[in-house]
Parts: sequence; structure tokens; C-alpha cells
Amino acid sequence: AECDAETRGMIERRMRLLGPAYRLFYENPLRIERGSGTFLYDQNGEEYLDAYNNVAGVGHAHPRVAEAIAAQAARLCTHTRYVQEPILRYAERILPSFGGTLADDGHIMFTCTGSEANDLALRIAQHHTGRNGIIITSEAYHGNSSLTAGLSPSLGRRAPLGQWVRQVPTPDSYRLPRDTMVSWFLDHVARQIDDLERHGNGLAAFICDSIFSSDGIYDDPVDLLAPVAELVRSRGGVFIADEVQAGFGRTGHGFWGYRRHGVDPDMVTMGKPMGNGFPIAALAVRSDIVAGFGRDMRYFNTFGGNSVAIAAAQATLDILRDDALPEHADRVGDYIRAGFARLQKRFPVIGDIRGAGLYVGVEMVKDPESKAPDGVLAARIVNGLRNRHVLISATGCHANTLKIRPPLVFTTGDADRLLHHAEALLEELAE
Ligand code: PMP
Repeated sequence: AECDAETRGMIERRMRLLGPAYRLFYENPLRIERGSGTFLYDQNGEEYLDAYNNVAGVGHAHPRVAEAIAAQAARLCTHTRYVQEPILRYAERILPSFGGTLADDGHIMFTCTGSEANDLALRIAQHHTGRNGIIITSEAYHGNSSLTAGLSPSLGRRAPLGQWVRQVPTPDSYRLPRDTMVSWFLDHVARQIDDLERHGNGLAAFICDSIFSSDGIYDDPVDLLAPVAELVRSRGGVFIADEVQAGFGRTGHGFWGYRRHGVDPDMVTMGKPMGNGFPIAALAVRSDIVAGFGRDMRYFNTFGGNSVAIAAAQATLDILRDDALPEHADRVGDYIRAGFARLQKRFPVIGDIRGAGLYVGVEMVKDPESKAPDGVLAARIVNGLRNRHVLISATGCHANTLKIRPPLVFTTGDADRLLHHAEALLEELAE
């Protein structure tokens, strides 16, 4: 199925109008006009099963979110320099969800994007510690502002890292020995802290996505990050949990990904599904860490936490809770992983199956003995599934891990459809 002449014309206009830095999904790009629940629809009304969109967490075009946005937009949309009740109610609802210190003694600050939330987190960390150094994982993505692009090697092979940014390797649970993994990772963090102290003024923050999305999706071992947080604090830095990917129930009943690791973070950043597609993101921060920053400067963000954004976020949070979607994500995610484990017995090119909740990684390899990454096969599967109207993507430094991350309302029926097409396609590709 090639795209039609009209769509090809739109792709050319898009290139001309939006320029060269934009990318489209799939060899055969999709034109999308409507969404509903776990489905997207193209210009001909053809249905696509969306097993990839983590922004529409409670489902595309959820009526309750749409109504909340419309009602608030018809009443008032303004910024955080007036006293308004809904933002306070939202803060009171969300802060307890963080658990630990942030629940008891945290603040929440609103932004429009995850990049801004991380940018603000790092500025606060640098101000608080009086140091510049930042440690990330080797394939991290943390945003597109000047500061956060410098912590996002996954932007591209030639994307420049910030001067005070240091990388630690991906905790590759598929290839590295499990019993020494925690000490191995800790050792890398310690060495990078040493390096930052030798060449600069030391560590401000360690920032990490607890499901390691752009590194290739690693859910295990779950005792990896608590010792890192301890080490980071003992060396004067702060631990930032970037929950833009793992948060809001995506990785299951703990609601936040870092809770799987038993970490009590100093800051948490969040975004993507927070407003089910309406731009709202945030930073939760321990009060003592932001105290000096707040004394020395003010924070204002014209659109961050505006009345309509808060209405979208409140409706989204209510739906997540009322419909117990984080628990549902655990059940359906396990169901998908079990389905791929069955396929693995027939297709040894499925090297490893990982993930938590509705974040599923399926690593494709040339053969299970060498574990050599097969990014070409992964791309064939992503494009082949697209042609079968099932949408997923791939991740990791070799782009060989299938990334399956549907709206949290994905059902076991949807999962059966995904697995059916994956199986048929693997048969086809094996021929
Ligand atoms: N952190 C992580 C882990 C992300 O995946 C992303 C977005 N892909 C961001 C931060 C940046 O969020 P945004 O695109 O909203 O700026």
C-alpha cells in the first residue's frame, strides 16, 4: 500500500514548509485525521490499532477530557499570576502520588513540555548544589531546549553533548551478567562523578528515565537505582527521575516508574500523558532544594499550568484513577509479554522480551547465541505492521528493540490483534 498522490503532495509541502529537521513515521507515512480510544483513522476512514501512542494515555479523544477542556476554555484561560482554585486542587491530588519525601514536603511547578520541566529541574539542581555536572545514560533523551538537548545523545549521532555532561552505559540486562549489574552500574556512576570533580566543579544531578526508553527499554534489575540515588547524594548531587515516559501509570500500579526501584527522588519531571495530549508538564521538587532558587529568582511560564491545561490534567488524572488504568496496564502488559514469549519459541530472532506495565520491549537479534542486534529486521517489522494497520516503533542504540507502548485503555482484544499480526508477519519474513 503506497500513499496516494494527494498525500504525496502533502509530504512535499510539508518538507517545503516545515523544513529538513522534521521526521515522519514509517517508510509509507500515515495521514491521520481522527482518533478514538486505541484507534487512529486515516483520510479514507481506515482504522489503525495504535500500539505506540503514550501521550493519549486514557485513549484518543477521550470525551471527558475533551469536555473538560472545552468547558474551561469557554470560561477562562489564564496564567498562574491570579489565585485560582483548580491548580491548587490538582496539586493537592498529585503530590501524594509521589510517595516519600516529595509527598510530605514537595512542591509542584508547571511547564508546557517535558523539555522545560527537565530544563528547570537542572537549573534548580545547579543552583542548589553550586555545581554544573550532570550524569545521564548513554542513549538518553531529555528534551529539545539548549540545556536538555545537550543531555540527549539519542537526538542523533552528531548531536553535541553539553560540556559538563557525562554518560554511563545502558544497563543492558539482556547481555550483562545480572549478579554484578548493580555494582557495575554504580561503579560507572562513581567514575563519572570523579571525572566531573577532576575537570570541573563536580556533580549537580544524575537524571534518568527509570524504564530506559531510548536506551532500549530495561525494567530490570529493580534494585539498580536506589543505590545510585544514595551515591549521588553522598557526593553532593541530586537524583532527578525523568518520568516523562514511565509516569502516570504507564509502567503499572506504582503510578511512577521510580517506585518500582524503591527510589525516593529529589525531583520528578513529568509531561506527555499528563493532559492526554493537551500541553502540560511539571516538575515536583523537594522544598529545601528549591528554596534558594525561589529566593534568588522568580519563576513564570506564560502557558505552563494555565486554566485549560489544568482542566485537561485534572480530567486525565481522574480517569486514570476511576478506571484503575495503571493496574490495567500491568495486566495487559503482562498479557502482551506472554504472547511474545510464545512467539519467541517459534521465532528465535526474538532475543528478549522486556518492560513493565504497558511499556513493552521486544529485542530482535540475528540469532539468540550471538545476540547480534538486528535493526533491519526490527524496521521490517515496524513497517510491516504499519501496512497491516498496527502501529508500533523501535528503540535502542541499534533501533532493534520493538517499542510497544499503547494508550493505557488497550484491551486484551487489542493485544490479540497486535500478536496475531506480529505472528503472521514473522512467518512471512521467515520465508
Ligand atoms: N524526557 C523524556 C524521557 C522524553 O521521552 C521526552 C520526550 N520524548 C522528553 C523528556 C521531552 O518532552 P517534550 O517533548 O514534552 O519536551
